[in-house]
Amino acid sequence: KNLKKHFVTPKSFFNKEEKRVRAVDDISLFISKGETLGLVGESGCGKSTFGRAVLRLTEPTSGSVHYNGVDILKLNKNDMRNMRQKMQIIFQDPYASLNPRMTVLELIRAPLDAFNIGTEKEREEKVIDILELVGLDKQNLRKYPHEFSGGQRQRIVIARALILNPEFIVCDEPVSALDVSIQSQVLNLMQQLKQELNLTFLFISHNLSVVKHISDRVAVMYLGKIVEIAEKKSLYIDPLHPYTKALMSSIPIPDIDAPERKIILTGEVPSPLNPPTGCRFHTRCSHCMEKCKVQEPALVNVSDKTMVACHLYE
Ligand code: SF4
Ligand code: MG
Repeated sequence: KNLKKHFVTPKSFFNKEEKRVRAVDDISLFISKGETLGLVGESGCGKSTFGRAVLRLTEPTSGSVHYNGVDILKLNKNDMRNMRQKMQIIFQDPYASLNPRMTVLELIRAPLDAFNIGTEKEREEKVIDILELVGLDKQNLRKYPHEFSGGQRQRIVIARALILNPEFIVCDEPVSALDVSIQSQVLNLMQQLKQELNLTFLFISHNLSVVKHISDRVAVMYLGKIVEIAEKKSLYIDPLHPYTKALMSSIPIPDIDAPERKIILTGEVPSPLNPPTGCRFHTRCSHCMEKCKVQEPALVNVSDKTMVACHLYE
């Protein structure tokens, strides 16, 4: 609720003025238990920062994060540590996120070690169970990350995220580093795990096709703000915000359900250091009106399940 994460670069010899990057700038949204909320937007729009702020992996500047009714930003260190068992994150790069000197057993077992859960034997059994769940054989226990393909490594990363029986997982571009042919295998696995283990996902990606594959609802982010949230089907068939329309028109796959795709997004994404006044999209919007340059549109309901932040819909 009203979540903000601003980064301040301090003054220095080269930097006469303090600069404030509004990476996440007043975001309110909910995720229901058992759902996958997709979060899309161009790179640098603040998606990853939002995902990390929700888990307190980066401390939000202001706002609140309510998890099953508890404002986790108010928890002390110890209570937050316990809460972390319920909330996990899967990163994009399975090469960078696995320590090359640890075996598969050590890597996946590490969270159990950290929380001191079970005996050594029980931990190993649990690792074997989880490995099986992600489609890897127990023959792999003593192997090192470099002995696996990218897709297999991402399965190891997923196994490690699951070992503490979490409820909620932030998936930050989990398939973006993988070959396209492997992406759908890993997405299908995640979908299947979600069902079996009754998980809830915040699924972050710049790739609209990937988000379409896995999400129930989708939120579109632009320069630190949510500009539209809707059920997947309505967002992909009938996007409302001019930015969402432009993003949709850039999906290369022909889709007979979708309306004509003629809008092309021009211009660079403005810097979050100095975002445009009024509607942040106004510098790239073909519908821009005078009021758009000065007045920021609020995110409002336009129907039961769709919210949009644009003066065209007020
Ligand atoms: Fe375009 Fe104005 Fe809507 Fe912003 S508020 S998206 S500038 S029409
Ligand atoms: Mg990112």
